Amino acid sequence: MTDKKTASFMRSLCMGEIEEEIVLPYPEPTQAEAETLRAVFGTLASMLGSREKDFAAWDRAGEMPLGFLQELREAGLFGLVIPEEHGGMGFGSTAYSRALQEIGRYDGSVALTVGAHSSIGLRGLLLFGTDDQRRRYYPKLVTGEMIAAFALTEPSAGSDAASIKTTAVRDGDAWVLNGEKIWITNGGMADFFTVFAKTSMEGRGHITAFLVTRDMKGVSTGPHEDKMGIRASSTTTVVLEDVRVPSANVLGEVGMGFKVAMRILNAGRTGLGGGCVGGMKRLVELSTHQARDRSQFGQPIASFGLVKQKIGQMVIDCYVSESVVNLVAGLVDRGFEDTAVEAAISKVLATELLFRSADEALQIAGGGGYMRELPYERILRDTRINRIFEGTNEILRLFIALTGMNDVGQELKDLGASLKGIFDDPIKGFGLLSDYAKRRASLVTGIRRTKAKWTMLDASLAPEAAIFEQATTALAVTADRILRKHGKRIIGQQFDTRRMADVMIDLFSLAAVLSRVNAAVERDGKEKAARELEIARTFAHQAKRRMDACFAGVDDNADDGLRSLSAHVVELGRYPWDNVN
Ligand SMILES: Cc1cc2nc3c(=O)[nH]c(=O)nc-3n(C[C@H](O)[C@H](O)[C@H](O)COP(=O)(O)OP(=O)(O)OC[C@H]3O[C@@H](n4cnc5c(N)ncnc54)[C@H](O)[C@@H]3O)c2cc1C
Repeated sequence: MTDKKTASFMRSLCMGEIEEEIVLPYPEPTQAEAETLRAVFGTLASMLGSREKDFAAWDRAGEMPLGFLQELREAGLFGLVIPEEHGGMGFGSTAYSRALQEIGRYDGSVALTVGAHSSIGLRGLLLFGTDDQRRRYYPKLVTGEMIAAFALTEPSAGSDAASIKTTAVRDGDAWVLNGEKIWITNGGMADFFTVFAKTSMEGRGHITAFLVTRDMKGVSTGPHEDKMGIRASSTTTVVLEDVRVPSANVLGEVGMGFKVAMRILNAGRTGLGGGCVGGMKRLVELSTHQARDRSQFGQPIASFGLVKQKIGQMVIDCYVSESVVNLVAGLVDRGFEDTAVEAAISKVLATELLFRSADEALQIAGGGGYMRELPYERILRDTRINRIFEGTNEILRLFIALTGMNDVGQELKDLGASLKGIFDDPIKGFGLLSDYAKRRASLVTGIRRTKAKWTMLDASLAPEAAIFEQATTALAVTADRILRKHGKRIIGQQFDTRRMADVMIDLFSLAAVLSRVNAAVERDGKEKAARELEIARTFAHQAKRRMDACFAGVDDNADDGLRSLSAHVVELGRYPWDNVN
């Protein structure tokens, strides 16, 4: 099998290879983790279970009371990922994601407050901190005496994070920071900030990460933002005015801050994904009760096909998201280093399916769903942000496709280079060419090497495995084709890139579902796992239809029309076809 540490399921898949050892068996929490989790769930149920009215009130007020924050501290919820030897729970990705799932069932603002602290606020310290930094800050972070925040975004630097303007200038044994960060989660209550600043004024980049604390002179935060959703969570500006940060508070290496930021965001994704899955489980509960209890035309609305369609889809969306989020967390816990594409897929998938579920649940609740008395409208508002922060889903789709196809691009580049010098080094040139030709031929003719096949799945999943294998071949052939067509210009080909990303999202989701259902069949037998097999069949069918449309869309599409209309209207700045001018 591929080197465990560096293997990436999705990158191999783009080359037409199914590295099934990476996704099989489906991960489960360890015995010890399951026990600790059960205890955490008990605490959460007694602390949050009867607070629905409070959550609604705090949403209106746009603030969480200090007394409640204290309850979160006392429950140990700020120590979830801090190692046990420092007094935390030492949760790995799987257990952490599962804990956030449970909080996410109750309230989005609470999940975000806890999640921003552990997923991104202190994650840099966990990943890159020196022993001295950890000794200094863990004791206060673990109790929540210090709440953590992650400060990257600025007024002119959102998706283009490398263009930040906050500066850090060396002065003796300190760095002097100046700049303004915006929309920082936990900003109003945090005492510990992971801040990113430019340590060289030449062009973009040269960013360094710093550990900044509120007691440093020159650190201030603005008022709470008045937001659409997650209103009880704190979002503020963070202003840095001649803040002297000791060199001992540089996080990671000077100049490596962009990588630090990306690693933190990548590692935090299973937490956000977990929160989304928790939200979906609650929505399934709300909708099933509503559909059973509400009657129209003399029967429960659950009996109508259009309501069945919504609830059935919500179940699939929840199961698929849960499978993907758990699989990614399991990969991280098993020591796989290259999980960036898979983690990005889990974020895009879970955030979009949660939003769809929230929208459908509100629709099932009808007019009542629109009323503030019920939780649906708040859930809908709360879930909207997930598609925007921690990397917008557009940027993440580009990342998924371009990083996933990187090996294909590299192979073509090597091939191009060696063909240019073919007479200088014919052996190397022909060697590469023949490897490439063999791979292409095996994909195109369908005479596949073992690696393009599932071999460890139960026979009951054969039809779904076949859908997966066919789509993998099509993915590899299409990746090769569009990269040969566009070369470096692929960066600007966002319509096709999106299609590739969507196929990759569906394929990884199907891999996660196959892995999980296979585990259920092996554990419980086919009959007991019948419902899960039904989910696999239904999802595989839906995924196949979507993937086929993406592959067909590479050649047969209306992209030019959309591009041209967009350019036209953007230039005008208005819709020009009103019938009364
Ligand atoms: C409630 C809330 C909490 C937040 N918490 C934090 C936090 O704790 N820490 C922090 O640092 N930041 C935080 N943010 C900021 C968040 O991460 C940014 O809003 C996000 O990265 C997007 O940046 P932007 O808002 O400037 O949008 P822009 O980058 O201006 O993007 C606008 C639109 O253009 C699209 N777009 C941009 N570039 C491209 C491209 N190259 N190709 C295709 N489409 C593109 C985007 O996808 C988006 O749809 C928070 C934001 C909010 C609203």
